[in-house]
Amino acid sequence: MATNGEEQQSQAGRHQEVGHKSLLQSDALYQYILETSVYPREPECMKELREVTAKHPWNIMTTSADEGQFLNMLLKLVNAKNTMEIGVYTGYSLLATALAIPEDGKILAMDINRENYELGLPVIQKAGVAHKIDFKEGPALPVLDQMIEDGKCHGSFDFIFVDADKDNYINYHKRLIELVKVGGLIGYDNTLWNGSVVAPPDAPMRKYVRYYRDFVLELNKALAADPRIEICMLPVGDGITLCRRIQ
Ligand code: SAM
Ligand code: CA
Repeated sequence: MATNGEEQQSQAGRHQEVGHKSLLQSDALYQYILETSVYPREPECMKELREVTAKHPWNIMTTSADEGQFLNMLLKLVNAKNTMEIGVYTGYSLLATALAIPEDGKILAMDINRENYELGLPVIQKAGVAHKIDFKEGPALPVLDQMIEDGKCHGSFDFIFVDADKDNYINYHKRLIELVKVGGLIGYDNTLWNGSVVAPPDAPMRKYVRYYRDFVLELNKALAADPRIEICMLPVGDGITLCRRIQ
């Protein structure tokens, strides 16, 4: 068992990397993944965007580099072309997506904050993939409702990445299940929520972690019980649950 001193020492080494919410057994192991697999193959534009984002005060929100690599590979594996992203921030997962989809691929990207998107936009433009992005500023839910009402986009998305307000994930799911195609994927991010999903209710937690925890727990239960999807929860980043629509 770790002594208090050892625990403090290992805690002191945590969260050095931007977007690092590693669930692995040690930071050294996470660092190994970054240095062996991710950084040597990270496109220059992704690196630049990561460095721009690192200087921003809310950089804890960014998708980590290992998750960016995972998303990029996944999108290529499923031949995603028509995609959606809810929660853009400065655009790291957006750029990972834009680089993975074909020239005529599309990303409907939504965020309530345009300023942060515009911070990363010059890097995305320089990478030559901005034409694939349709950015909509504002809350995502009304846009989804409108799309469902219009009836044009039913079953049309190959891939949807959800990385925004965790207290709305269940509401997103109700709509996205209609918009994703049968055989298509929805990825819900942060479903292990800092590891707090297994913490006792009285454990010390940051305020925002505690607030969203119940919503994440509720989502995880709902996804596991939903017969319209197959699921796979991966300990990449802060946990991502992939949902494949089957009906
Ligand atoms: N995927 C991003 C990346 O790779 O850096 C990180 C997204 S960050 C964790 C969450 C984002 O969700 C924030 O930029 C926030 O402004 C946005 N957001 C919060 N509530 C939202 C809503 N109702 N609709 C759309 N976006 C929202
Ligand atoms: Ca996230």
